[in-house]
Amino acid sequence: MTHFSSWGRYPKAKQQAVWLRWRQQNIDFTELTATVLPYGLGRSYGDSCLNDGGNLLITQQLNHFIAFDKTAGVLRCEAGISLDEILHLIVPTGWFLPATPGTKFVTVGGAIANDVHGKNHHRYGTFGCHVLRFELLRSNGERLLCSATENKELFAATIGGLGLTGLIVWAELQLRPIYNAFLTTKSVRFKCLTGFFELSAQAAAKYEYTVAWFDCQAQGNKLGRGIFMCADHAPAQITAYPAVPKFKRRSVPFNFPAFILNRCSIKAFNQLYYRLHKKVTEKVVHYEPFFYPLDSILNWNRIYGKRGFMQYQCVVPFAHGQEAIKKILACIAASGSAGSFLAVLKTFGDIKSPGLLSFPREGVTLALDFAHEGDATLSLLNRLDNIVLDYQGAVYPGKDARMSAHAFQKFYPQWQTFTQYIDEKFSSSFWRRVTNFNSKEII
Ligand SMILES: Cc1cc2nc3c(=O)[nH]c(=O)nc-3n(C[C@H](O)[C@H](O)[C@H](O)COP(=O)(O)OP(=O)(O)OC[C@H]3O[C@@H](n4cnc5c(N)ncnc54)[C@H](O)[C@@H]3O)c2cc1C
Repeated sequence: MTHFSSWGRYPKAKQQAVWLRWRQQNIDFTELTATVLPYGLGRSYGDSCLNDGGNLLITQQLNHFIAFDKTAGVLRCEAGISLDEILHLIVPTGWFLPATPGTKFVTVGGAIANDVHGKNHHRYGTFGCHVLRFELLRSNGERLLCSATENKELFAATIGGLGLTGLIVWAELQLRPIYNAFLTTKSVRFKCLTGFFELSAQAAAKYEYTVAWFDCQAQGNKLGRGIFMCADHAPAQITAYPAVPKFKRRSVPFNFPAFILNRCSIKAFNQLYYRLHKKVTEKVVHYEPFFYPLDSILNWNRIYGKRGFMQYQCVVPFAHGQEAIKKILACIAASGSAGSFLAVLKTFGDIKSPGLLSFPREGVTLALDFAHEGDATLSLLNRLDNIVLDYQGAVYPGKDARMSAHAFQKFYPQWQTFTQYIDEKFSSSFWRRVTNFNSKEII
């Protein structure tokens, strides 16, 4: 058994690693007695990329480009290739990813299986919206071409399908054009949650990218204060290009002791970060620090210590969005939890996700990290689930390590339709947890 973990390093799982090789035409599934699950770069936070007691199909060596039409911006590549490798190839040719998550260390297969979203959901929808087709290898040896017109049910089930419908071997993506590697950005401080909603409503029509950091410990009339960032790809002609940053990657060398991240240290950080930002700042920046600020510190997940951490990301519809987010923040404050310095608010637009189980839907989404402090953390997150359920929202499976079967099935009522597309040999720790429904369960 080999130890492969998810980004939050909770829960722990033991599984057999099966390394897939380039151009490996067949996997002998009959030789594998336990269930299998594809594993990309393990950037999912919880257990959707884990298969405790089973096999992981490690895709990192399926990392070859197959074809690149530089005129049409269509790229075909193996599914284990990372967004980082893709950006190195496409940016100098005037193309960019139409949707990208907050780290470039994710594979194409992982991005499809979680139907990931970026800061421009209101303009471009999810990653899955730009997948033209892919090849899916099923455990009976079938290789199926899937697109919006061929095997379209499996296409929809695989996008956001959490790796359960088979192995994506390669995929074809439609890229979007850019003039250069830079963005024109603006950041604005807001004093409270209402400020975020006002800025969001104005910025969505004007800017391609919008996102906000907020101070999860601010209370009273400062509740939800933060920094709103918006950006566009830079035009062909701008007067001054900043120097391309030299990325010196630093690494967190060991697990931090648990006491370092506490209510006081996070409060001090949040206050300082908020105050250091001027009311309005405008800059031209390279795409790396804008999209992937955390990628410059390798292994930053170690700051949460040995027990790991959980990210909670939910979405609630706009109708009562502000009220729901207020309740969530009040619930976190009342719990006495240290909260997080990585607290993000953004909005999803009305572009429908193509995946049957995709998480993004129109509304406001909040993401917060919590150090794992045992039952106190788990019961706080269950209370947050109840609020999200009351407001007809959903929690993101790609970030989850603990939601109950009851909550999952309410968030994703289409889960039963989805089960018919699951490959009989494929399973995951997440899926077993959220479908092991116990009617007595109370959340
Ligand atoms: C710092 C950070 C920031 C992030 N920001 C965002 C964000 O802004 N938006 C967002 O949506 N997500 C975000 N994420 C989550 C991350 O983008 C997703 O979890 C992504 O799916 C991870 O990809 P991966 O290659 O590491 O896949 P893994 O985590 O290894 O696997 C994810 C899922 O994909 C499946 N899978 C992997 N490869 C294949 C394949 N070839 N065929 C079929 N299934 C496959 C796995 O079985 C699993 O279910 C962030 C994560 C981090 C660490």
